[in-house]
Amino acid sequence: MTDDRKAPIRPLAPGSVIGIFGGGQLGRMIAVAAARLGYLCHIFTPEADCPAAQVAARTTVAPYDDHEALRAFAAAVDVATCEFENIPVESVRLVAEQTLVRPDWKVLEVAQDRVQEKTFFNGIGLETAPWRRVVGQGNLARAVSELGRPSILKTARLGYDGKGQMRIDEEAHLGHAWHHVSGMSGSGGVGVLEAFVDFAQEISVIVARGIDGVWTVFDPTENTHANHVLQSAQVPAQVPVFLAAAAVDAGRRAAEALDLVGILAVEMFITRDGRLLMNEMAPRPHNSGHWTLDACLTDQFEQCVRAICGLPLGSTERHADATMTNLLGGDVVRWLDILGDPSARLHLYGKKETRPGRKMGHVTRLTPRSVAM
Ligand code: AMP
Repeated sequence: MTDDRKAPIRPLAPGSVIGIFGGGQLGRMIAVAAARLGYLCHIFTPEADCPAAQVAARTTVAPYDDHEALRAFAAAVDVATCEFENIPVESVRLVAEQTLVRPDWKVLEVAQDRVQEKTFFNGIGLETAPWRRVVGQGNLARAVSELGRPSILKTARLGYDGKGQMRIDEEAHLGHAWHHVSGMSGSGGVGVLEAFVDFAQEISVIVARGIDGVWTVFDPTENTHANHVLQSAQVPAQVPVFLAAAAVDAGRRAAEALDLVGILAVEMFITRDGRLLMNEMAPRPHNSGHWTLDACLTDQFEQCVRAICGLPLGSTERHADATMTNLLGGDVVRWLDILGDPSARLHLYGKKETRPGRKMGHVTRLTPRSVAM
C-alpha cells in the first residue's frame, strides 16, 4: 500500500498514537514534545527501561526482527517514525504495509548506506569529499592510491559516532584497516574511502517538510566534534552569510529530492577555501539541533511531531544565541552545578549506567540574540 492511499486527508488529531522505532534520547524528546501537544507515543525497542520508554505511554520491548511484535505495533499506532537511522529497513517496511510511516522507509534506506547517501548527494548536484566504494583489501589499496593519505575508511552501513571508521594515515596498514572496518557486525563487507577534508568548520542544517511540501529550516549550527563524536553546537554559526544560505539551500534540495515528510539533518564541512561539502544526513531530529529546545519558538522535536502528524509546521524563529554541550560519560556528575547556572538549561536522558563517552544529557547555555549572523 502506498503512503498516498493511507495518508489521511486531515491531520492526525491530538489523542492519536505516534509509534517510534528506537528508545534513545531522541525518542524521549520526541515523546515529550508529542505529549505536550496531546499525542501518545508507543516505543518499539529491543532495550527495556530505555530513555524513551520512561516518558512514553506504551512500549513494546522486542527485537527489531520480531515480525509478530512489529505487526502488533503497526496495528496500535496511527503513524510511525524512527528516532535512529539504523533500524532494519525490512522492519520499517513491514510496519509500512499496515500504517503510515514518515519519513518513508525509502529515505531511511538512503540514509543508512553511505554509498547510497553520497550517490544521492552527488546526483542532486551537492558536492561531497571525493569518495570510493570499497569491497576488499585490493580495492582499498587502489582507492587509497587515488585519494591519497590521509583518508578515512568508513563502514558503508551501521556506523555512527565514529564507530566503524578508521583514519588511513602514512603508517596505516591497509590489511588491518580493512579487517577492522569490514569486520564490524552488519557492515556487509562494504566500505567507503573518503578523502580527508582539512575543514575550517563543520555545520549542520535541520530541515522539516510537511505533507503539503511546505518546509522550514532552523538556523545553521556550527558543530565541534572530538573523536568523531559531537561535543558542542553553537548558533549563530560563525560562517559567511552566503555559505549559511548555501547550506540551507542544500538541506532544502535534499529534503525535496527525498520527498521528505519529517525532519532531515544534513551535516556539512566548510573547507578552508570556502566550499561546502556534504558529509552525511539523518532523517530524524539531530544532536546538533538540541539547542532549538531552548532557543526557538518551535523546537526540532515538536517540528518532527508536526510534520509526521500532518500539522502546520511551527515557526523556527530563534530568540537567543545558544551553545549546546553534550554531557558525555562522567560529565553528568556536574548536573547540580549546571542547575545553579542561570544561563543554563539542563536536559538529562534518564540513563542508569554511565559509560565513558555515552551521551547522558546535554546543557544549553543562552545569551541574548546577537543582531546579525
Ligand atoms: P561521520 O560519522 O561520518 O559524521 O564522522 C564523524 C566526524 O568525523 C565528522 O563530523 C568529522 O569531524 C570527522 N570526519 C568524518 N569524515 C571526515 C573526512 N572525510 N575528513 C575529515 N574529517 C572527517
